[in-house]
Amino acid sequence: MIDTHCHLDASEFDADRDAVVARALQAGLTGIIVPAVTANNFGAVREVCAHHPQCFPALGLHPVYAMQHQEGDLVTLKVAIQDESVVAIGEIGLDAWDKSVGLERQKHFFAAQLKLARDRDLPVLLHARHAVDEVTGMLRRFGVRRGIVHAFNGSRQQADKLINMGFKLGFGGAMTYPRALNLRRLAAQLPLESLVLETDAPDMSPVWAHGQRNLPEYLPGIAKEIAALREITPKALIAACIANTDEVFGPTHGEKSIFTRPPQKPGTAFPSPSIQKLVTAFPSPSPLRGEGRGEGKTHKTTRTKSEQLAILATFAKQMRLAPTEAEARLWYFLRNRRLNNRKFRRQHSIDKYIIDFICIDARLVIELDGGQHTDIMTHQNDVARTVFLEKCGLRVLRFWNDEVLQQTGAVLERILRALDTETPHPNPLTKGERR
Ligand SMILES: [Zn+2]
Repeated sequence: MIDTHCHLDASEFDADRDAVVARALQAGLTGIIVPAVTANNFGAVREVCAHHPQCFPALGLHPVYAMQHQEGDLVTLKVAIQDESVVAIGEIGLDAWDKSVGLERQKHFFAAQLKLARDRDLPVLLHARHAVDEVTGMLRRFGVRRGIVHAFNGSRQQADKLINMGFKLGFGGAMTYPRALNLRRLAAQLPLESLVLETDAPDMSPVWAHGQRNLPEYLPGIAKEIAALREITPKALIAACIANTDEVFGPTHGEKSIFTRPPQKPGTAFPSPSIQKLVTAFPSPSPLRGEGRGEGKTHKTTRTKSEQLAILATFAKQMRLAPTEAEARLWYFLRNRRLNNRKFRRQHSIDKYIIDFICIDARLVIELDGGQHTDIMTHQNDVARTVFLEKCGLRVLRFWNDEVLQQTGAVLERILRALDTETPHPNPLTKGERR
């Protein structure tokens, strides 16, 4: 079963996110859709989803944070959704209950995002609190016909309108409370083809976890509750909800279900949100300051975040092939930081091999691997390639993509150490040219 709305990137999960996902999968979940709420958390959402193949990112600007959103965030969103791993635009919508945020400002961002959804043919994940009619009207006006109204809480008439337009309605923890009469009636009576399941974790805990953190592993309990109200088996309810979820997300990917396809490689958008996050996490001066010889003398160390992003954008243009996220992250350091004052090349060819990175004057090659090779052929190729490179007098360092993404600092340290222990050899270039 699929949790169509779970804020897994939230700080409430920082301490035990992997365990939370593991327990959710154990409980029978096959997919978790993780919606963003501001441009600032696009990186975190993408990172969670890159790390867990069963998690799928939706990116959007939530109405409750409309005061924070900038015009530039819409541009960021437009660029970010070009990555095909993004399954929807969300969480977006209107919130008339939260009086601290002007409805006009909310509508401005909602409208712009509906246009994006329409132009890119992406489904939307909607937040409509005390604003179902306004949301419905805008969906109609912008011709958006595919998506989920998350945590639906409106009248039967409002539900019917949305269902007729092609939308599904999300039900979660709120309907498990005996006093939630309207929600329970809707969950019991709405057409089965219109329902999808969600937790909205860490918020909206079901009755059995009242006052505690909500978790995706509670989804089977919610399914059981809805099935009981409808007097059908949980199995039948879950099957219907999966089919409904597929209907929302399927066509984008031209397959029956995005949730049954093999795990996706981390996204290739560049500069990817997680790299943007890295830029923020490691503001200048370089985190390697003092470690490398001459570090800090040779490049400007007080770049602003936007200057750094501009540099990344230039890299993207210079790269002929879209890099994997790990490659892009490593390249950012090797190139921008001029690690240990050395010049690295990317995608350099030596004989019949194209190698990921090379520092020619240190005769050091860095290769990245996507994942454990299961077939013997690929493994033998790797060995042959390493033997060949070593015969050419090169040293080869190999890293897993995961390693680079999760332990960038340790990987850089190993590269630095290798640069420090190089065997001395005459350098044909004068010092100035070496940079
Ligand atoms: Zn939400």
